[in-house]
Amino acid sequence: MAGMNAIPAPLATPEPTPVAAAGQARRITHPVQVGKVQLGGGAPVVVQSMTNTDTADVAGTVRQVAELWRAGSELVRVTVNNPESAAAVPRIVDKLAMMGIEVPIIGDFHYNGHQLLTNEPACAQALAKYRINPGNVGFGKKRDTQFAQLIELAIQYDKPVRIGANWGSLDQSLAAQLMDENARRATPWDATAVLREALIRSALDSAHRAVEIGLPAERIVLSAKVSGVQELIAVYRDLARRSPFALHLGLTEAGIGSKGIVASCAALAVLLQEGIGDTIRISLTPEPGASRTQEVIVAQELLQTTGLRAFTPMVTACPGCGRTTSEFFQELAKVVQEHVRGKMPEWKITRPGAEHMTLAVMGCVVNGPGESRHANIGISLPGTGEAPSAPVFVDGEKTVTLRGENIAQAFVALIDEYVDAHYSRSAA
Ligand code: SF4
Repeated sequence: MAGMNAIPAPLATPEPTPVAAAGQARRITHPVQVGKVQLGGGAPVVVQSMTNTDTADVAGTVRQVAELWRAGSELVRVTVNNPESAAAVPRIVDKLAMMGIEVPIIGDFHYNGHQLLTNEPACAQALAKYRINPGNVGFGKKRDTQFAQLIELAIQYDKPVRIGANWGSLDQSLAAQLMDENARRATPWDATAVLREALIRSALDSAHRAVEIGLPAERIVLSAKVSGVQELIAVYRDLARRSPFALHLGLTEAGIGSKGIVASCAALAVLLQEGIGDTIRISLTPEPGASRTQEVIVAQELLQTTGLRAFTPMVTACPGCGRTTSEFFQELAKVVQEHVRGKMPEWKITRPGAEHMTLAVMGCVVNGPGESRHANIGISLPGTGEAPSAPVFVDGEKTVTLRGENIAQAFVALIDEYVDAHYSRSAA
């Protein structure tokens, strides 16, 4: 008798699910030139970050911008909140240029941007882009006038702008107007849907106003940031559907530590997979004493693990378990990751393509040799009770077995040899 636990008859083998090609359905927007970096228009997704120094502190800000740039930030935003900061901007840009760092610097303005840019023409000229928050441009009648002034300055200095609406500083008059309209609907939306619409409309209406004033659509980037993962996905899907503008993605106030990383990546991965997003920032709160560069590394790793871009060789490592004899394999995974990340600025110039190399560091023979064969170079360390030897696989073939105290140094040397042999020196 066929009971509830009966095993179903085998079915015909179904067609395999295809693996989606990264960026296959990339949304094509207006291209926007920010210094020498293109956003949108089919360009690769750009990584950006923001300093947390006092911009008026020229030396401190230059140091942090340089650090972010060396970590891989392709655009860096600084706050411009007072005359001292505005006066510092051209000096910061000059000092960076003297150091050979030509990363575009974006000015972040709230409330007084129209005054600062008018009073400091050298700042208006030195910045590569102005970020304007339509909820913080000004109040009442002044808002439209001050917004128009900012756009006219962007036209005058030939600069792009990001119109960046934010959940935390929503245009309250627009929100109230949409709440009133909603109350007259036969079936009113829920309040959060109205607020999401206010955020989107704030960005879109401001962009259309900027175009009316005379700023070309090719000089406008939009963002509409919220701090909830599902809300962010919903907002950007709408924004992408309703506008042709390049989009800056970011979960605002993502938080500290793993929570901030997970929340940002959960939201941005969904949007990037749908082809939405031309530039990203991971807005992490740094742990006390931690480097600001973590947000850049997370952004790069998000783009690389989803197959959208390659920045540095990726290390596959097993999590370890009771079969692993010691912490040695964890240390080796860390040494290898830090080695290739440290070498990448040099390899970028002398060994182009090295960023696509794959590495594996595995803890024992269970999955070690198999995973190592899938990598360009992989090592399988001895687990508990296994012979004290570590076979190395190069492009699927076992080439050498490492033993003794210097396995880490020997493996790192093999990585360098592989890079030298497989990635040609550029003409530069
Ligand atoms: S490869 Fe070995 S050590 Fe690593 S998780 Fe698997 S069984 Fe454990």
